[in-house]
Amino acid sequence: MAIGYQSQRPSSASGNSSTQPGPKGPAVIDVRNVHRIYESEAGYVHALKGVSLQVARGEFLCIMGPSGSGKSTLMNLLGCLDTPTSGTYLLEGLDISQLTDDELAELRATRLGFVFQSFNLLPRATVLRNVILPLTYTDLPAGDRMERAVKALTSVGLPATYFDHRSNELSGGQMQRVAIARALVNEPAVILADEPTGNLDSATGEMVLKTFARLRDEGRTIVLITHDPEVCAWGDRTMHIRDGRLLSDEEERAVVAAHGGTGRGLT
Ligand code: ADP
Ligand code: MG
Repeated sequence: MAIGYQSQRPSSASGNSSTQPGPKGPAVIDVRNVHRIYESEAGYVHALKGVSLQVARGEFLCIMGPSGSGKSTLMNLLGCLDTPTSGTYLLEGLDISQLTDDELAELRATRLGFVFQSFNLLPRATVLRNVILPLTYTDLPAGDRMERAVKALTSVGLPATYFDHRSNELSGGQMQRVAIARALVNEPAVILADEPTGNLDSATGEMVLKTFARLRDEGRTIVLITHDPEVCAWGDRTMHIRDGRLLSDEEERAVVAAHGGTGRGLT
């Protein structure tokens, strides 16, 4: 392991000054005054304007915001797919701006689990194969990989009778649970979910959200992005993003009240 995040990972006993204690313990995600400015032919787009965010281990955070507010930009940063124009992002105490592209790729593969709106499973591969896939580049023996995949699938509540089905034979809700198991299999520090219920009917979406809530109860850290307020009811905390700025629930209410109570037309 080249990047040495183990040695830099804060422990609750160390009082590491680089991480603010969150409501449940030291921050896994610690974003400080991050700006992201895109340069395009049309000019500069200031997509994130001084975002600060701490997420504690074992917390289920929802981030809500309208289209164009900066959700994907923030998710790409949290997922180490992009780096800030300015400001810092510490993931488990590790400053990601100091890492090479290879180290970032390794971090993504080992410390982050991604869940997408469109599931992104290999359609003709079996359920087990889809979940084992992220372990391909580890040095775990085959038997251990299988054991981990079965454990992850069991933890999302998928019955074992489906393990050798092709993923394209499953319902949407089952596919998303397989995708969550795939995100879990590497024991990541954080699961990042981008509109994970966006393609599901509300009953199925609720089943998937219950799965996230249960994983949180087991101590997982989850950041979920959505534009649906009902989804946010499942999290511990909701932050709002408007025009590249993060707002707490109270700040959001004040902004909405100042615009006539609906928030419509606000970005
Ligand atoms: P959301 O996911 O909330 O819809 P985004 O993060 O995709 O918002 O976009 C935030 C702002 O940044 C928008 O104004 C968008 O047009 C702009 N933006 C996003 N990606 C790029 C890019 N690669 N180049 C230029 N502008 C971008
Ligand atoms: Mg987006």
